[in-house]
Amino acid sequence: MSNNLYIFSNDLRLSDNKALFEASKHSDSLEVAFLYNPKKWDSHNESPLKIRFQLANLEILKKDLKGLNINLKIIYAEGIEEEPLKILEEAELIEASGVYINKEYGINERRRDADLKNILETKNINLNIFDSSIINPDLIKTGSDNFFKVFTPYSRSFRSLLAKNFLELSPAPLKQKILLKESDELPEFILENKLHESALDLYKPGEIAAQEILEDFIETKVKDYKKLRDFPKLDSTSGLSPYFASGVISAKTCVNLLLNYSEDIPGTGEYSWFNEVIWREFYKYIIYHYPRVSMKKSFNEKYEDVRWRDDETSFIAWCNGKTGIPLIDAAMTQLNETGWMHNRLRMVTAMFLSKNLLIDWKKGEEYFMKNLIDGDHSSNVGGWQWSASTGVDAAPYFRIFNPITQSEKFDKEGDFIKKFIPLLSELSSKEIHNPEPEIRKKVNYPEMIVDLSSSRKRAIETFSNI
Ligand SMILES: Cc1cc2nc3c(=O)[nH]c(=O)nc-3n(C[C@H](O)[C@H](O)[C@H](O)COP(=O)(O)OP(=O)(O)OC[C@H]3O[C@@H](n4cnc5c(N)ncnc54)[C@H](O)[C@@H]3O)c2cc1C
Repeated sequence: MSNNLYIFSNDLRLSDNKALFEASKHSDSLEVAFLYNPKKWDSHNESPLKIRFQLANLEILKKDLKGLNINLKIIYAEGIEEEPLKILEEAELIEASGVYINKEYGINERRRDADLKNILETKNINLNIFDSSIINPDLIKTGSDNFFKVFTPYSRSFRSLLAKNFLELSPAPLKQKILLKESDELPEFILENKLHESALDLYKPGEIAAQEILEDFIETKVKDYKKLRDFPKLDSTSGLSPYFASGVISAKTCVNLLLNYSEDIPGTGEYSWFNEVIWREFYKYIIYHYPRVSMKKSFNEKYEDVRWRDDETSFIAWCNGKTGIPLIDAAMTQLNETGWMHNRLRMVTAMFLSKNLLIDWKKGEEYFMKNLIDGDHSSNVGGWQWSASTGVDAAPYFRIFNPITQSEKFDKEGDFIKKFIPLLSELSSKEIHNPEPEIRKKVNYPEMIVDLSSSRKRAIETFSNI
């Protein structure tokens, strides 16, 4: 008889889950475990909202696993360093011959997996790790056998490698002969931020919900994605990021369905959406091959020397949506109230913090991570370093978005702003992007915390002097 142990990470799904399928194939009895590790979540700045979303997904998985004669075990650990030992203890307890996981690319997870392999080997237990990206990052190389640093050639190579076999989905896990034991109760996880209690209602948990969102997006929205994706008041992007970030749906599943519906032709909405999914893969590839990026370091080493301003008052105003720039404040309120922010606004708010306020991008990156339901270390660091011009294939430092111009262009009528800042709801589309001082006073809306023109100049000088 063969028992095995599978460990969930950011892959909370049964479908297209390679490690889980392989574990089920080689077992008579399989236990599936989730690492409950608040100390690790804290040190990785994981948002409590994301953890609650994961627990809601686990509740559904627990039921589905029961139908397959598989139990769900909660393994409690204190920090990532303790995880190998805790996994070993559980593997020994159930007399497992193997432990199965999908690969995570962050540096801490890679170190943990190396420790896990060593500790399991001492007890003759195999560690089986499966690649979790669409194409194994070791296979995507430049003509000179190096790893890419620029997105466009990477994406070209990615697309040309994308033969059918990379898109083959893993079968569902197999039903086990014997149920080892009953599943554990899921622990209660309290949300201190009461706003997030209601935000949770916005994201229906479960693989079925994710699949429905995907199908609806591909049937009705993807065609216009290129044209409409930048307007935050519209529901024109997929909204799948919470599901991607916790692995409730696999990127491969999404690409598969997309390519079944349409051909990958440049200039189309489909092509443009696929490109974004490739950006996600690209950022994972980058932290894997250039791990300094995942250690709070600038990808571009010379920008380690940027002298960021220490300005806690402005930072707090930015966090709380009180900068006096309506689009920025509406965007930060969207993040604080819903745990999600539109992509265009992530770029605008990140650039404003790192350029106009000249505050270290790492502070903003941390704040996003702590509040996003879709917090994803590689995409978040990638997006922040892109905006701060310190990253791989980043925005040039002199190309600084003017948040007022962005507001006039992408929220012309001010509908998005009005939704998140009701006290500006009576303003006309002309007034709303940068209200006159008397209007600000009248509606009790703050003055801008920084002069956009001189702060832009300051940022360009700071960067160009390096
Ligand atoms: C400063 C900053 C921080 C960011 N932090 C995160 C983060 O923590 N987690 C996260 O998932 N995305 C992050 N992004 C990328 C992007 O903003 C979100 O993925 C997107 O807004 C999610 O909405 P959607 O699912 O409707 O995306 P869609 O437009 O429907 O795109 C589909 C999927 O492609 C991926 N994707 C889209 N845009 C990007 C991108 N620019 N970079 C990488 N992947 C992308 C996401 O997985 C997304 O769900 C960040 C971007 C910036 C500029």
